[in-house]
Amino acid sequence: MSGIFSKILRGEIPSHKIAEDDNYFAFLDINPLAKGHTLVIPRKEIDYIFDLEDSLLAGMLVFSKRIATAIEKVVPCKRIGIAVLGLEVPHAHIHLIPINRIDDINFARPKLQLTNEEMADIATKIRQELK
Ligand code: AMP
Repeated sequence: MSGIFSKILRGEIPSHKIAEDDNYFAFLDINPLAKGHTLVIPRKEIDYIFDLEDSLLAGMLVFSKRIATAIEKVVPCKRIGIAVLGLEVPHAHIHLIPINRIDDINFARPKLQLTNEEMADIATKIRQELK
């Protein structure tokens, strides 16, 4: 059975796309801890990030670096925190989260309630920084 992120990859479920290439796809987390909270996934549907082959795993971090640099330009923050949990969606993904303090990356915290328009606006601004 195909997972939710594979459906996003195929466009069967909408997402606020940030970037893509032959191996990876980045889109806004639907329940963000901060404005600009982005998920980076490999196109290959593999659950556990440490089951990715070495080159795909390494490339995922390099791809994430480019996205993080763009997010930082749009969302004022001390830095972009990265986290890997994978407890909810069984498709490897890296969370990129603008942070100023440790609690900003506390997944037990209530998530932001952003409108679709706010999400679209953030995604557009981040995409513009990637050009
Ligand atoms: P985890 O697997 O624990 O790293 O959490 C999965 C993350 O995926 C959560 O932060 C969710 O908010 C996010 N998520 C789940 N479904 C979607 C979706 N359709 N679009 C964007 N993000 C999603």
